Amino acid sequence: MIGIVIVSHSQKLAEGVLELASQMVQGSVVIKATGGIDDPDNPIGTDPMKVMEAIESVAASAKDGVLVLMDLGSALMSAETALDFLPDEIREKVLLCSAPIVEGTMAAAVQASVGASLQEASAEAATALDVKIQQLAPITGETLTTRDCVPEIEPSENELSTELVIINKMGLHARPAANLVSTAGKFKSSIKVRKGEKTASAKSINQVALLSVKNGDTIEITASGPDAQEALEALIKLHADNFGERDEDVTEIVQETRPSVQHTDGTICGAPASAGYAVGVAYVHQASLPDVERTTVTDSAAEIKRLDQAISSALSDLKQLQLETEKTAGKSSAAIFKVHALILSDQDMRDKAASAISEQNINADFAWFEVMDSMAADFRSLDDPYMQARAADVIDCGGRVLRILTGVTEQAIHLKEESIIVAEDLSPSDVAGLDLKKVLGVITAIGGITSHAAILSRSMGIPAVIGAGESIQQITNGKIIALDGFEGKVWIDPDQSVKDETAKKRATWLAECEEAKTKGAAPAKTLDGTEIMVMGNIGIPSDAPRVLEYGAEGVGLFRTEFLFQDRTAAPDEEEQFAAYVEAAKAMQDRPVIIRTLDIGGDKPVKYLDTPKEDNPFLGERGVRFCMARPELFRTQLRALLRAATTENIWIMYPMISDVDELTSVLDFQAKVRDELISEGLTIADKVKTGIMIEVPSAVAMADKLAAICDFFSIGTNDLTQYVMAADRGNGSVSKLCDNLNPAVLRMVAMTCNAAKAAGIEVGMCGELAGNSKAAPLLLGLGLDELSMNGPAIPSVKEAIRNVHMNDCRALAEKALTAKSSDEVKALLV
Ligand code: PEP
Ligand code: MG
Repeated sequence: MIGIVIVSHSQKLAEGVLELASQMVQGSVVIKATGGIDDPDNPIGTDPMKVMEAIESVAASAKDGVLVLMDLGSALMSAETALDFLPDEIREKVLLCSAPIVEGTMAAAVQASVGASLQEASAEAATALDVKIQQLAPITGETLTTRDCVPEIEPSENELSTELVIINKMGLHARPAANLVSTAGKFKSSIKVRKGEKTASAKSINQVALLSVKNGDTIEITASGPDAQEALEALIKLHADNFGERDEDVTEIVQETRPSVQHTDGTICGAPASAGYAVGVAYVHQASLPDVERTTVTDSAAEIKRLDQAISSALSDLKQLQLETEKTAGKSSAAIFKVHALILSDQDMRDKAASAISEQNINADFAWFEVMDSMAADFRSLDDPYMQARAADVIDCGGRVLRILTGVTEQAIHLKEESIIVAEDLSPSDVAGLDLKKVLGVITAIGGITSHAAILSRSMGIPAVIGAGESIQQITNGKIIALDGFEGKVWIDPDQSVKDETAKKRATWLAECEEAKTKGAAPAKTLDGTEIMVMGNIGIPSDAPRVLEYGAEGVGLFRTEFLFQDRTAAPDEEEQFAAYVEAAKAMQDRPVIIRTLDIGGDKPVKYLDTPKEDNPFLGERGVRFCMARPELFRTQLRALLRAATTENIWIMYPMISDVDELTSVLDFQAKVRDELISEGLTIADKVKTGIMIEVPSAVAMADKLAAICDFFSIGTNDLTQYVMAADRGNGSVSKLCDNLNPAVLRMVAMTCNAAKAAGIEVGMCGELAGNSKAAPLLLGLGLDELSMNGPAIPSVKEAIRNVHMNDCRALAEKALTAKSSDEVKALLV
């Protein structure tokens, strides 16, 4: 394979280009960046010696040669001089490329990743500007020459083909296109991508980019040659995997957004965003931003600092919200907070506000409000309804900063009675904080089926009509509304017949929902009679009744860190005791597995002084953190042991890594129990105590660990990241961090075997447990219990009811011999 050297006058620019290219090829090509000179006062320039060293270092592992891309002027001379200094055997395999540095490097890197020669990569790089030229042609008038245009390739005989609809939000943009080209490049066959009249080679990043494939476009992929069948299958799998993009980069539902209309009969139409019917009184919610006044400041530097602090504090709140929502409502619901974090991280917004502060000597609150307001107005003025809805995002996340600056807290929605919420738009924070029992429905003026109000309403089962337009301004508090979330219709002050009919439909719809839940309530028994415990994951006690409604047979994981977050001091023993008892009572004697505090890693808690570590996931987290803070741990164990004396509570320890650690933890638990008894309290003789299996060393030592505890629960979220050495929160390695990788499944099998041999129960509470397609495989691997988010329970139970254990075991055997996650996924139908 060839390697690449990037030469720029600026080290930062060279590194930036390297960062972009590395993202495209995910580390599969050796690339080095070199730039600047060693003069702190005047660092801009190029140094032939540095260029030579970079080429030598890349050449050491790139046996097919080194392609050098340069920015301009002396960079070319430095590269040429470097060549003179290189030994002959290296120099012969170096090619200087005249392509533009950014676009050229991207194209060359992708070609290198599919095994292109120096000449092929250089030629591809040389046409790298074509995409830009074509895209800007309507503005610049510049057109591509015939040579540059994507050639129409004649269809050949013996061609295999397939049609694919692109659901990636941004279409086949840089990263998915690079993945397509890398996959196609692995095959000898000629592979083409056709969109409409245009056809491109699937092995050319530029040609694929020039097709300008957008969300919703249909492409045809054709392959002809010795491995055409395999190539097509690989590309179909890649498409099924969203071309390597994560769920949040993909359209959730492909459905048309209907424009809002007010009919003569007073009916308003919007997008049918969440199914269901409702009739009830309107609660009109006005998104409130704090009032800000323009004031003059004397110390503008201090004011800018205040702004920066507010932005960074809002960013850390968003991170927290994202993590919490991921756990309670899933990744796709939480994705919006990532978008908000991106908006807030936008340097342009911050810089505009900072300039206003320093140039006009005004307060940070006013400067930020103005910037945010004008950005929201820009979004509102766009034609595309999806982009218009982004104005609400700007206001929502910008409002966070404003509230921190002004100290004015958000006006929460407090419903006194069952109501239909009517709002311009609802922010994720508004929807996430709703008292669901009182929400009959949701109507918004703006947004579409992809807006967050819609996504969240769906995930909470609230009927919603989104994007109903300005006509909803006529709705005042207390007005009677009828809503049809299936059809996207709203009636204001409907006549009796509409009210009656909608109420009747609502009753039928609710009964159907109940029936689905009843299905969830029945046990999960396989066709041959093996019963599997299907439990719920919760974060706070009030989640317990919700998972119970979905049919949970207990709580398989109570993540207690939620009790400790978003506050200024840890909950004391009584508060914790009350929370544990509340959850257990709600579950009505069903087992509730309470995990001791699992903070550290990605879950910092400000007041507990979680240490800043270089590798937090490999640092003081879970029981490591608690054992280092005995007072904190003691309080939790006291509350847990007391609660477990009267309730069906089991204790579970996270992040156990070896036998000594578990022994120390169990000794500590015994000591706390002795203390309680010495205080005259009655404590149960035996509290079921188990551990999470989420560290590879625990899998390796599972037989020894099983000998000293009562149960295992496999945490596939962490186990996957530690087995694959791929950070669970890092999008660029998300492909590796796949819980269906056979390496992870082998670890699951080893854990189940050790548990069975020792006669203890083994469950799973990571995300994999909630994947209904994987349920038969998990049964075959030997799991006795699966614990997941409430909404996943009915479908997992249903999947279990349709299988025979013998088939599950055969499936598990096959999966354990698979070579890749894709092979495993192909086995799950
Ligand atoms: C896990 O790691 O799979 C798990 C359930 O724990 P958490 O996601 O809270 O780390
Ligand atoms: Mg974990």
